[in-house]
Amino acid sequence: MAKKPADSSSIAGQIASNRQIEKLLGYLVFNFLIFMAGFIGWAAATETAYAGEIARNIDRRVNFDNSANGFWAAVDTGVYYFGEHSAECGEFMRGLILCMMGIGIIEIIVWLISCFPAYFNAKRMLRPLNKMAFTATELTRAAHGENTNLDDIESALGSIDPMSSDMHISTGNRDLKGLEQAINGLLDRMRDAYKSQSRFVSDASHELRTPIAVIKGYADMLARWGKSDEKILDESIAAIKKESDGMNRLVEQLLFLARGDNGKQPLAMTNFSLSDMIREVHLEAEMIDPDHEYALEIKDDVTVYGDVSMLKQTARILCDNAAKYTPKGNKITLRAMINGGGECCFEVQDTGIGIETKDMPHIFDRFFRSDPARSRETGGTGLGLSIAKWIVDRHRGHFEVTSYKDIGTRITVCLPCKM
Ligand code: ADP
Repeated sequence: MAKKPADSSSIAGQIASNRQIEKLLGYLVFNFLIFMAGFIGWAAATETAYAGEIARNIDRRVNFDNSANGFWAAVDTGVYYFGEHSAECGEFMRGLILCMMGIGIIEIIVWLISCFPAYFNAKRMLRPLNKMAFTATELTRAAHGENTNLDDIESALGSIDPMSSDMHISTGNRDLKGLEQAINGLLDRMRDAYKSQSRFVSDASHELRTPIAVIKGYADMLARWGKSDEKILDESIAAIKKESDGMNRLVEQLLFLARGDNGKQPLAMTNFSLSDMIREVHLEAEMIDPDHEYALEIKDDVTVYGDVSMLKQTARILCDNAAKYTPKGNKITLRAMINGGGECCFEVQDTGIGIETKDMPHIFDRFFRSDPARSRETGGTGLGLSIAKWIVDRHRGHFEVTSYKDIGTRITVCLPCKM
């Protein structure tokens, strides 16, 4: 049994009573206007009858004898003075007051009868809010593995189709539109976040499954024949080492992204020379990778405010990719400069396989690897550029990517010089 949504009766009661009070005040104003209109009409008719016209700028007042015994007796003594004339108005006043009392009684009866519908109307108005609360409760319960009307959190969130009204709240009420949009936006974001999280977990497990299977395969082979066969022994040890190195790198990268997602990846911000950083990365690359020709172009002496080790990691990722996707002997150029927009930039340009236009929008996606990249056995995980993007986003920077198939790729990181 699904739990009932939170009770909103007190809010409905408040809305209804506010409306009823407003209605009551409306009746009072209406009655006062009717009373005044009635009396002014009578006074105008009386003045015309006595003086033949309605004079301007004369004194007008009504007098009652306060010493009369009782309210109605006092009303009966009413005299209307206008200029030099006077007319008894007691009888008319009595009639008018009785008439107003009649209207008042009818109004009170109507008001009392409308109290019930007002309450139920308010309750009906709040129904969409209850529905929202109900849906949210169901989602939370499903998330905690409890039995709900929704099969499970995955189907619950997966069923939120931005185009359908199924898991969207739609009341058709103009005043609730803002709230509706906010909650629907939140539901969409929850769905997207959940989907991307589950995709991340399944991609991560998939990436880890392959090296584990390889290691297990070699371990089995060793157990059967390897102990005596030196060739199999060497091959197995080399493969196990390679796969465990790959796994180690993958786990490190996953941990980095997980810490980043949890906001637990601190940045140590300082002013430092981006030009020097690029010089160091260039030197490292030349030492590690003798297979490519590395060039360095420092156009400006660029100083930036950021986390030097994180930005160095970004430059290493770009260099590493350039090396992976560039044929041996080809040129890779590292640059540091200030661009036309006054941003502090560094870039890595290669003369490699390039990125296909269709892959361009995805290269920063987690675990994305283009088909040629997969078939090249580069040992890439598809996480390098995701990490680089996380770092650059943190520095409020952006990437500029230019790539032509079989010609090369240039990836530029642009950072605000001062944050
Ligand atoms: P990987 O570990 O696979 O290199 P990245 O996240 O660093 O993962 O890169 C994602 C994908 O972008 C790569 O698999 C490759 O297809 C493409 N890519 C990145 N840099 C380059 C480059 N310099 N040249 C060609 N393709 C690249």
